[in-house]
Amino acid sequence: MSNKKTKYIFVTGGVLSGLGKGITAASIGNMLKDRGLTVNMQKFDQYINVDAGTLNPAEHGEVFVTDDGAEADLDLGHYERFLHQNITADSSVMTGKIYQEVINRERRGEYLGKTVQVIPHVTEEVKRRARLSAASGDYDVQIVEIGGTVGDNEGFHFLEAARQMMLDEGRENVLYVHVVFLPYLKASDEVKTKPAQNSVRELRSIGIQPDVLIARTDYEIGEADIAKMSLYTNVEKEAILPLVTVKTVYEVPLIMENHKLDEVIMKKLKLEVKPRAHDGWEKLVENIKKDKPKLPIAVVGKYITMLDTYASMVEALKAACWVNGFDIELIWIDAEKLEQNDEATFSELKKAKGIVVPGGFGVRGTEGKILGVKYARENNIPYLGLCLGMQLAVIEFARNVANIPQATSQEFDEKSDSCVIHIMESQKTVTDKGGTMRLGGWDCVLKEGTKIADAYGSTNIRERHRHRYEFNNDFKEQLETAGLVLSGATPDGKLIETIELKDHPFFVAVQFHPEFTSRPQGGHPLFNAFIKAAGK
Ligand code: GLN
Repeated sequence: MSNKKTKYIFVTGGVLSGLGKGITAASIGNMLKDRGLTVNMQKFDQYINVDAGTLNPAEHGEVFVTDDGAEADLDLGHYERFLHQNITADSSVMTGKIYQEVINRERRGEYLGKTVQVIPHVTEEVKRRARLSAASGDYDVQIVEIGGTVGDNEGFHFLEAARQMMLDEGRENVLYVHVVFLPYLKASDEVKTKPAQNSVRELRSIGIQPDVLIARTDYEIGEADIAKMSLYTNVEKEAILPLVTVKTVYEVPLIMENHKLDEVIMKKLKLEVKPRAHDGWEKLVENIKKDKPKLPIAVVGKYITMLDTYASMVEALKAACWVNGFDIELIWIDAEKLEQNDEATFSELKKAKGIVVPGGFGVRGTEGKILGVKYARENNIPYLGLCLGMQLAVIEFARNVANIPQATSQEFDEKSDSCVIHIMESQKTVTDKGGTMRLGGWDCVLKEGTKIADAYGSTNIRERHRHRYEFNNDFKEQLETAGLVLSGATPDGKLIETIELKDHPFFVAVQFHPEFTSRPQGGHPLFNAFIKAAGK
């Protein structure tokens, strides 16, 4: 490895959560990559969980899976999409992982009888994690996003470690970006900067002077506001970027570039300024903003209230629509309402030109999802099943076509003898819930001439997994005889990975999660093929 010094950019948030700090951090990465720099990204989360695998997706958003098998915060998905590169497990660090390491070390006696404290022991471990991730490739810049907001009870060790990094690494090697919110006050018709000032003061009280201030706002602000913020926060005017809410998040890197934020950052970090590469991101945003016909796609799910719950799937569907010249019209179908034969829900489903059943856990809502699959199969509506969406497609086919009326998954009925989906041998003895599933990237071989092989344009693919249950090979023959096409499997042929139907315009379901490898530019081959079929 070269001995160049990696530059660190720490991104913190203030005033309130949900500002799009992840998008902001990812956009900085995108912009710097466009300048020819190599960039890696990392997320520090303050939760005492060891990883995101056990977090409820309805509360925390989707669990993103890396190729090397980490169950991570959904911000890693933003990083991959904005940087167009794979991020690895060491990019996701939660407080639980930090403490677990420190406590294990203490038990091994590695602290030599010393009292173990937040400073320096926990902060040393935080810094070690940042450096470890930075050293995992030949990176010019390591961007570290610190979860939560400044002043939270639980975030101190991360901020303190970020402060120490400048001391350790040198002033020109560390940069601090603070993302704040400027609320709008209706009574006086103005955008207020005071909370932002206070947040910077709080950050400075722990020794961090931000170099760059990103001011998220719903309304335009003027020069006077920027001058005021500059005066009170000690951040130069050109390093303050007002970021008004935009139609598409993919526009944010371009807004930053227009504001010359790349130059501000490169100057401060003494990075050699290369010309912008303009790798097509402008074209992407142009295409997104263009008026296009709407394509109604139904997603039959358990959590229908939050886009974050299915973040990567939604982005993959959008990207595939853009590639095919559409804008998506998402129709969220509450599986439990389908189950109750709710008429209004059924008529919503009927509007869809394509139906998706995404991943999920537990029995709740599954009968409704199966009704969604059945509707797609019987009415020749393009269907895409993702993970649980494949398992339910197999169950539906087994029950209604292959004459296995009691067909189910062992996840829903442990004792049934019609488990067309069952638990893997290696999973039977597992009792821990965290990090114990079949996780990460697996190679898969597709059968020549199948719809899925056509979609990928290849018979050798690699996709990411996160599940405990598998297709039960005991039913292979019976299902194949009834017409189910087992179109893909692991290279050893043991695990069925993809299925499809012959006499149907597009009915493809996969045991993996292709949404995690979709990118906004160009989309994902399977999603593209599904949307193409839906758009016909
Ligand atoms: N619950 C199923 C399993 O564990 C599917 C998981 C998923 O959809 N990610 O196998």
